[in-house]
Amino acid sequence: MKCEDESPKPHFVLVPFMAQGHTIPMIDMAHLLAKQGAMVTFITTPANTTRIESTIDKARELNLPIHFVPLKLDCAKVGLPEGCENVDKVIGKEQVKSLTDAYSMLHKPLVSYLQAQSNLPSSIISDLCQPWTGDVARELGIPRFMFNGFCAFSSLCRYIIHQEKVFKNVADDNELIILPGFPHCIEISKARSPGNFNSPGFEQFSEKILEEERRADGVVTNSFYELEPLYHEAYQKKIGKKVWSLGPMFLHNTEMSAIAIRGDKATVDQKHCLQWLESMKPGSVLYVSFGSMARTVFSQLKEIALGLEASKRPFLWVIKSDDKVSDTEKLLSEGFEERIRDRGFIIRGWSQQAMILSHPSLGGFMTHCGWNSTIEAVSNGVPMITWPHCAEQFLNEKLIVDILRIGVPVGVQNITSRTMEAHEISIVKRDHIEKAVLKLMGEDKDAKERRMRATELKQKARQAIDGGSSYSNIQQLIEYVTTRK
Ligand code: UDP
Repeated sequence: MKCEDESPKPHFVLVPFMAQGHTIPMIDMAHLLAKQGAMVTFITTPANTTRIESTIDKARELNLPIHFVPLKLDCAKVGLPEGCENVDKVIGKEQVKSLTDAYSMLHKPLVSYLQAQSNLPSSIISDLCQPWTGDVARELGIPRFMFNGFCAFSSLCRYIIHQEKVFKNVADDNELIILPGFPHCIEISKARSPGNFNSPGFEQFSEKILEEERRADGVVTNSFYELEPLYHEAYQKKIGKKVWSLGPMFLHNTEMSAIAIRGDKATVDQKHCLQWLESMKPGSVLYVSFGSMARTVFSQLKEIALGLEASKRPFLWVIKSDDKVSDTEKLLSEGFEERIRDRGFIIRGWSQQAMILSHPSLGGFMTHCGWNSTIEAVSNGVPMITWPHCAEQFLNEKLIVDILRIGVPVGVQNITSRTMEAHEISIVKRDHIEKAVLKLMGEDKDAKERRMRATELKQKARQAIDGGSSYSNIQQLIEYVTTRK
C-alpha cells in the first residue's frame, strides 16, 4: 500500500495571458502553490521564457516544483513576425487578434505535453483571455479555474456590462449608465469601462471568454476578501460559482519579489535605487509609474516633469516613453535632471516595483490603477494618486477613491491607449499634477486619514495571507483539486 507521502502531488497547470500584468501574478501564483506542496506546470513560449529567465533560475535555486514549459507559438501561421509572442510586442487590434488566434492553436501541443507526464495534471488555472483552455481541461477530464486579474468590484461591473449588454443601444460612448443589479448605484460610461475585446473582429473571442467563464469550475483572483467583501459576495452570487481570492499573491512570494525579477529585467541597478531610497526621509517619496503597457507621449511627460518639480516633493519616476527617445532625453537633459537632482530619481525602463513600494521611504504612488499595481500599493499601505488610462482602470479608480478612500484622483476624464496618436490624448496639465501631489503627500486631516486607512488595509492584506481568508482559500483550493482527483 502507498503511504500518504508517496501519493502524487496535486498538479496545477497555469496558463497565463502573455502580457506582463497578466503573467506576473501567475508567476506569484506558481510560487504560492508550489510552496503549499503542489506541483506546477507553467506554460509559456520561447520569447516569453527569456523575459522571465531570472524568475526561472530563482525557482530552481529554491528547489520549487515549478516546471516552466515553453510551447512553440506558430506566429507565421497567423501572420505575426517571429518572436511576437507578447501583447506588448504587437501593434494594433489586428495583431492582438492574431496573437489570440496563435495562442488558441496551442491546444493540441498542450494536451500532448500534459498527457505524456507521469504525474497527470489535476487542474488548469488559466487566464480569462485564454478561453481555449476550457476545451483542454474537458479533454483531459480535469477542472478549469479561470484566473481573473481584476478585483471583485471591477469583475462584477465587467460581468454585468457584458451579461446584460448594457451598452448595446447606447450611441454616445460617454453617456453614463446605471449598472443594473450592482449592490449600490454606480454609473459608468462605455468609454471608461473594460472592453472585454468588444470591438469588431473580436465577437467570437469575446463570446468564448464569456462562455468559458460560465463553464469554469471557479474563479481565482488576486484580491482578498476583507478588501471588498460586499463585491466579492455579489460577484460570487452573480456568476453562481466560488471565487477563490488568493491575494495579495506577491506577498506569499516575498523572497522572490525582493530578490528576483518579476517581469522584465530592471533597467537600473537595484542597489543604486535602494541606496537612493535609503537616503530619503520615511514616507516622503512619491513613486510615479503607469504599469507595464502604457507609453507616455512626450507632451505628457513634460507636464509630469514640471508638475513634479513644482510640487517640491521627492519622487521616483519610472519613464516608459513612446518611441521619441531623443525628445525625452532632451527634456531631461534641459536642466530638469540637474534641478531635481537632490530629490528626484528617474528610471528609464523597468523598475523593481514590488521592492520600491515596500520601502519605508515610500509615501505615495501615482498610478494608472492597474490591478497589480493597486494591490501592491494596498499591501504596502501606500495611498495613491489615481490616473487611469484604459481597460478596467477607471473602475479601480472608483474603488480606490470612493470606496476605500485611499486615493486622490488626478482628474483624468478620457482614456489613453497605446494605439492613440499624441493629438488624440487629453493631456493632464502640470498644475493638476502638482495639486494632486500636494494633496496626497500633505499633512492636513484628509491626508492623514487617507494614510491611516491605507495602513489599516495593509494590515488586513497581511492577515489575509497569514492564516486568514486568502490562506484558507489556497488550502481549500488544493484540497478541492486533490479530492476530485
Ligand atoms: N511592473 C514592474 N516594473 C515596471 C512596471 C511594472 O515591476 O517598471 C510590474 C508591477 O509591479 C505590476 C505589473 O508589472 O506587478 C503591472 O501590472 P498592472 O496590473 O499594475 O498594470 P499593467 O501593466 O497590466 O497595465
